[in-house]
Amino acid sequence: MDTDTTLKVEEGVTHDTIGDPPAFGRCPVCGKPLRPRDLITGEPKAPEPGQGKYSRAICTGCGNIIEYIGGGKWKLANPN
Ligand SMILES: [Zn+2]
Repeated sequence: MDTDTTLKVEEGVTHDTIGDPPAFGRCPVCGKPLRPRDLITGEPKAPEPGQGKYSRAICTGCGNIIEYIGGGKWKLANPN
């Protein structure tokens, strides 16, 4: 690996957008784009649908608990 390589950051692009995972859908409540991560590895990854609490995430936009139903779609999770 070339250690002399300097990371070039284009104007208007922040470090937060570098390495962004692909879109995993949007919150069904507030429409915020979601970036779920694997609970174990921390890798950007959507959960497996149909796995109960393991398919759920908390939206950082509105705070609602949502559940992944596959195909980049989420629904508001039933808290019960
Ligand atoms: Zn939301």
